[in-house]
Amino acid sequence: MAKITIAIDGFSSTGKSTLAKQLAKSLGYLYVDTGAMYRAVTLYAMREGLLTDPRELVASLPNIALRFVLNQRSKDAEMYLNNENVEKEIRTLEVSRHVSDISKIAEVRHKLVDIQRQMGKEKGVVMDGRDIGTVVFPDAELKIFMNASSDARAARRYKELLDKGEDVSYADVLANVQKRDHIDSNREVSPLRKAEDAVEFDNTDMGLEEQFERIYNFAQRIIAKTVAQ
Ligand code: C5P
Repeated sequence: MAKITIAIDGFSSTGKSTLAKQLAKSLGYLYVDTGAMYRAVTLYAMREGLLTDPRELVASLPNIALRFVLNQRSKDAEMYLNNENVEKEIRTLEVSRHVSDISKIAEVRHKLVDIQRQMGKEKGVVMDGRDIGTVVFPDAELKIFMNASSDARAARRYKELLDKGEDVSYADVLANVQKRDHIDSNREVSPLRKAEDAVEFDNTDMGLEEQFERIYNFAQRIIAKTVAQ
């Protein structure tokens, strides 16, 4: 069966990773969470005191090794930074506060985009992020752009953080979601935008199951068309 590339982009906390994981699982594809990679570089910068020193961070890029390792129990891929499992640490609001500034740095993006292209070069991949359909895989056979109201998105992220035991306020989470979207959409290098050929989904009022069904059926049609060609 021919395999395709599925690119999922969109605003923060629109459910991209939930959808991408479900699609990858159902299709037997590899799932790559590119946000985790930007978060891991941000964590490195935080630990090394390089948040306000982009030049030094760029000089340190060769010292940053990133890889995903499958957790045998949960079957989820987890982010490793220099051989340390940082999956939990990269999801904190503290990392979210800095990640968009680190993601603006062109050299950081070049390094991560190279790794992402390498991971997806055999196709059969579902990758989510901000620039997958526009920059990483502009030829992806299926591109999805996700959106939802900022209130719906903040409410989801707030619940997620509370469930993980983080002590955060809804107002802080909402402010972070809005700020990241602003920085991500307005940066010079690879800003967040919908690829012309992407299909847009707004899931403010849509359940995750219904959304998955629709996109999965759509993906199946594209795969069938690709096989026929
Ligand atoms: O997807 P997630 O919300 O974890 O991404 C965290 C941040 O990483 C985004 O707000 C954005 O600044 C950055 N990012 C990016 N390009 C990607 C994926 C994430 O700039 N492809």
